[in-house]
Amino acid sequence: MSSSEELFARAQTLMPGGVNSPVRAFGSVGGTPRYITSAQGAYLHDADGRDYVDLVCSWGPALLGHAHPEVLKAVHAAVDRGLSFGASTPDEAELAALVQGRVPAVERLRMVSTGTEATMTAVRLARGFTGRELVVKFAGCYHGHVDGLLAAAGSGLATLAMPGSAGVTEATAAETLVLPYNDLDAVREVFAVHGARIAAVITEAAPANMGVVTPAEGFNEGLSAITREHGALLILDEVLTGFRVGPAGYWGLTGARAEAGWAPDLFTFGKVIGGGLPTAALGGRAEVMEYLAPLGPVYQAGTLSGNPVAMAAGLATLRAATEQVYATVDARSVELSTALSEALAAEGVQHSIQRAGNLFSVAFGVSEVHNYEQAQAQEVFRYAPFFHSMLDSGVYLPPSVFEAWFLSAAHDDAAMNRIFQALPVAAKAAAA
Ligand code: PLP
Repeated sequence: MSSSEELFARAQTLMPGGVNSPVRAFGSVGGTPRYITSAQGAYLHDADGRDYVDLVCSWGPALLGHAHPEVLKAVHAAVDRGLSFGASTPDEAELAALVQGRVPAVERLRMVSTGTEATMTAVRLARGFTGRELVVKFAGCYHGHVDGLLAAAGSGLATLAMPGSAGVTEATAAETLVLPYNDLDAVREVFAVHGARIAAVITEAAPANMGVVTPAEGFNEGLSAITREHGALLILDEVLTGFRVGPAGYWGLTGARAEAGWAPDLFTFGKVIGGGLPTAALGGRAEVMEYLAPLGPVYQAGTLSGNPVAMAAGLATLRAATEQVYATVDARSVELSTALSEALAAEGVQHSIQRAGNLFSVAFGVSEVHNYEQAQAQEVFRYAPFFHSMLDSGVYLPPSVFEAWFLSAAHDDAAMNRIFQALPVAAKAAAA
């Protein structure tokens, strides 16, 4: 038995499914999850003494690569000053200012600990601000495991083929209206009927939890216009895309550059903003954000919110995330997705490379994917053999076809070459 097998066997007797987050159990690809003992740059090291080029990057945060020296230095210094004070610290405002410098529409920011908390608070705030109860979300978009946002939610629910979650009351589910992604007509129709009761539309800035789906030209901007017309708020969930696809997230790639310029009322951030430690945030228009306690009537709080060690990691990460870093990740993403597509084409495997900025994923057996229905119609069975072939060649992919592939600025030529060599063999496995 390998060490990973022994560790997994033990974990299953102690924790549900042996894991602390479902996709880690390798449910949809089968086999034994690798137990990771350390990570450096572009590589993960497992309990069996093997290493892997990492294309998960902690599901996003490791934009600079693992254990980046400047981030570690800042974290070590923060640890030496104490772990948690339950009081305000100078670094919180520094990080908020850095975010505002990149995303000026964030007039006020509130730090929380997870992306789930950020979206949960954003929805509560939208309801408190508008005095309305309904929320519109899109099938296949994942916003964390908030009760009301779990319907047709993508990510682990897509992987496990679950339509939603048990334990969510009918009353809660009834307050969420689920629409097909990329369909502005459906949004207009639902607003025509329920407009006066809709508090907010929440959407991933670019969906990456049903695989990657590119927002149609003008889709996010259209949501902004429709919500504004009806007095509802737009919550742009940049937990995954924020500070990863560019210095100002997906909005920075699109909204900020749109001719008329538009911005959502609220943004949610996570992952990169915490540099690998548990920090996330919501931010946006001051008028809305000031509905939060202590200024306003919408309650939200957190023992570890703005934790000093997490603030240090986030600050060091964003400071090191230069234009050069984004240029490197963008270039690697193009190289890799091109090589992937060529390898699959050479084996006659029909596929679609789904792209949003430097994020991409592959969908098998389809020519394009614009929404959840199309994402679910793909040949999911091709992914497990592809994944295991890559793993055997020392490349760690997301253990689900419904997830994005993540690169970092530490993916150097040696790391990329290992992936390029692995791809043709894996493509054969996918073709079988
Ligand atoms: N929103 C999006 C778009 C996400 O991708 C995720 C997690 O993957 C979340 C929210 C939830 O974040 P967390 O896992 O930190 O709760």
